[in-house]
This record gives sequence, C-alpha cells and structure tokens, in this order.
Amino acid sequence: MTDPLSHTHIIALDAADPLRPFRNDFLIPRHKHNDQVYFCGNSLGLQPKGARGYINEVLDKWANEAVEGHFTGSAQWMTYHELVREPLARLVGAQPLEVVAMNTLTANLHLMMVSFYRPTTERPAILMEAGAFPSDRHAMESQIRFHGFDPATDLIEVEPDQQEGTFSMAAIERAIAEHGPRLALVLWPGIQYRTGQAFDLAEIARLGHAQGAVVGVDLAHAVGNLPLRLHDSGVDFAVWCHYKYLNSGPGAVAGCFVHARHAQTDRPRFAGWWGHEKNTRFRMGPEFVPTPGAEGWQLSNPPILGLAPLRASLELFDKAGGMEAVRTKSLKLTGLLEALIRARLADVLQIVTPVDPAQRGAQLSLRVAGGRDRGRELFEYLMSVGVVGDWREPDVIRISPAPLYNRYMDVHRFVEEVETWRGF
Ligand SMILES: *Cc1c(COP(=O)(O)O)cnc(C)c1O
Repeated sequence: MTDPLSHTHIIALDAADPLRPFRNDFLIPRHKHNDQVYFCGNSLGLQPKGARGYINEVLDKWANEAVEGHFTGSAQWMTYHELVREPLARLVGAQPLEVVAMNTLTANLHLMMVSFYRPTTERPAILMEAGAFPSDRHAMESQIRFHGFDPATDLIEVEPDQQEGTFSMAAIERAIAEHGPRLALVLWPGIQYRTGQAFDLAEIARLGHAQGAVVGVDLAHAVGNLPLRLHDSGVDFAVWCHYKYLNSGPGAVAGCFVHARHAQTDRPRFAGWWGHEKNTRFRMGPEFVPTPGAEGWQLSNPPILGLAPLRASLELFDKAGGMEAVRTKSLKLTGLLEALIRARLADVLQIVTPVDPAQRGAQLSLRVAGGRDRGRELFEYLMSVGVVGDWREPDVIRISPAPLYNRYMDVHRFVEEVETWRGF
C-alpha cells in the first residue's frame, strides 16, 4: 500500500478526480511561467471562462437592439434575473420562489432587517457572534440605532468559548436561552469568515424560534462551499454574495433567501418597482403590490452586466453534479491539507478551524507559530512564490482549496513551500 500522503499517491488522486476537467473552465492567474496556486476563493473566486461570453452577449444585445433588448429572446433583460433563479435555488436547497439575485450582500442584509427586525421595548435585541465580519456588525448596530434602541444593551455579541476562537453549540444555545425573551433577531453566519467554522443552521433556527426570535443567516462563506438546505433549515431569511465561492466577479450581484412561509407577508418592507407584481408592473399604478416570495424585495431593474457572470458560474456547479459532488471533493481536498499539515508542519502551523469536517467547509485557518511577524513573513514568502492565500489580522492565514479549480497537487505544493520557508 502506498503512503496516502506521498507524492505518488497525490498524483493518483488528481488522476482519479471526477471534477478534474473543471479546472479547464477557469482562468488561472499566472505567476512567472506557471499557474498561480490559488487558495483565495473564499475572498474572490476565479473567473469562469464562460463569463466573458455572457457579458459579451449583453453588450452585443445592447449595441444591436438597444431598448428592444428588454423584450427579445430568452436572455431578455425584463426577466434576466429569472435565468439564475432555479440554479440558485438548487444550489442553496430552496424553492425557486424563495431566492432572488439582487443588490449586494450588505444592502440585502439591510432590506431583510427592515422586514424581519421589528424591535419592541420588550424585545429589542439582536444576538450575533462576537468578532463578526465588520459589515454585518455595522448593519446590526445601525439598524438598532435607526429604531431608536441602544446597541450597548441591545446588540448581544456571543463570545467564542473554545480555545481557537470557535463556538460550541452549547455556548450558542446558552446565549439564546439567556437572552431569549429580549431577542427580536438572531443573526448567525453559515461559516465564520476568520475561523472557517461551519454551523448547524437548522439547530440555530430551532433555538431562535423556540424563544420567539426571527432567525437570519449570512452565507457569504457557505454558499458554493457547503451543501445547504435552506428551506428545510427553517431560517427566516438568508443573504450571501456571489464573488467568493460562486466565482461571479468583483462586486457581483448578490443573493437573498426568504422562507416560503413569508412569501405573502404583510411585514413592512422598503419597496421598489421591480418587487411589484409582474403582471401589473407596467401599468405604472401608484399602489405597491409585492410579487410573492423573495423577488418581492427587489428594488430596481437589475444590473444585467453584473448578473451575467453568475450564469456562467451556476452552469458549472450544475454540470459538476451540484453541491454534493463539490462537497465530496472538498472533504478530500481539505482533508488532505489537514493531514499534510499535521504530519509535516505541526511545528509551524496550528489549525484554528475545527477538526470535525462537519464543522467546516473548504477553508483552513492557520495560525503561524512565533506570532504575527512570523506569520506575515510566511504569508509574504508564499505570495512571492505564487501560492496565494489571504491574511486575516491578527495572525491567521486562510487557505481555501476550491474543488472546481484546485488540484490535490496544489495542496501538496503549499506544504512544500512552507517547508522550504521553514528549512528542513
Ligand atoms: C464577504 C463578506 C461581506 C461583504 O459584504 P459586501 O456587502 O458584499 O461588500 C459581508 N459579510 C460577510 C460575513 C462576508 O464574508
């Protein structure tokens, strides 16, 4: 039997990988005369080769048809956002009615909170994780102030209870129970951006709902990374972006989920004409009648050029066999990274991300022995040899092998480069 961590075995893993051909569907940036070893799909996914074709299609349609482009052909702009609705629903485990591609992540978070964060004097509070991505915290805090409440008492930030800065489910459960009667909203990430910890969304929804709170999730790092079952999880709403694991380009149009139980809600919302019922939208009447489901939260006619690359990306996920197939490879790829680090780099790299594969996605967050300066040094060395991860203050390097374009060999290369830097 060959050593599962040997070079020979790793070459064999790539040879036997059913997703291997998909690498060819992406543009891999170059480093000198080679491909970069790109592990930064958690921040900006690589460009699918098909993106340019869809963008050019829009440009050509605009050039040739101008305003008529709204009404002609299957990719007409009037219904363009509907082209991604079903693939997106498949990707996140939702009904088509429950999802929409619109705006950007933080904007969607605010729109969702307008409808789903309805604080009262008895129940004013939002519960979230301490150390959340700053934009999410800014959104929460500003919404609390907007409603005339005080973030000092009404923004409850749960501290991680585990050594690596991760959460036990028990800590989340305790916090929700402790603050239960005061909670208007629980907002939790699908995957924590700094530690890479993945959470059981159905359980968090159950706990929040049991206390009478609304439950929303931020899936920025989970979508395109983990198989999700948003409908079954029962969360009230979800938001995410499409430029990370969804490979749809910088500032891509984002995603939003509203559970079917709210499809016909009379909750307040900030409305715009694109959320109005389709059949009567162009009667241009003064009265707002929302389209049932997530599309009813749309404001404007969407930026078609910003949506175009998402079509190319979603096609690849479908062609690959969906999130189950992607996750199958992801478990092996990140599992190999973990095993190699443990076997060969334990003196340099501490894995912050949970060891339980059920509690993580593609990303491993690595703390470098010797502190921040050593960490920066390693990070910069890796960049200088074309191994691209990213740096998160104060001392973490994030490495995220993306199953659609990373190879097992890439993981091996990372380990070899860290060894070279350390010295054997
Ligand atoms: C990436 C990310 C964002 C970015 O927000 P934008 O509105 O897309 O700029 C916000 N929150 C989380 C948790 C993220 O991971």
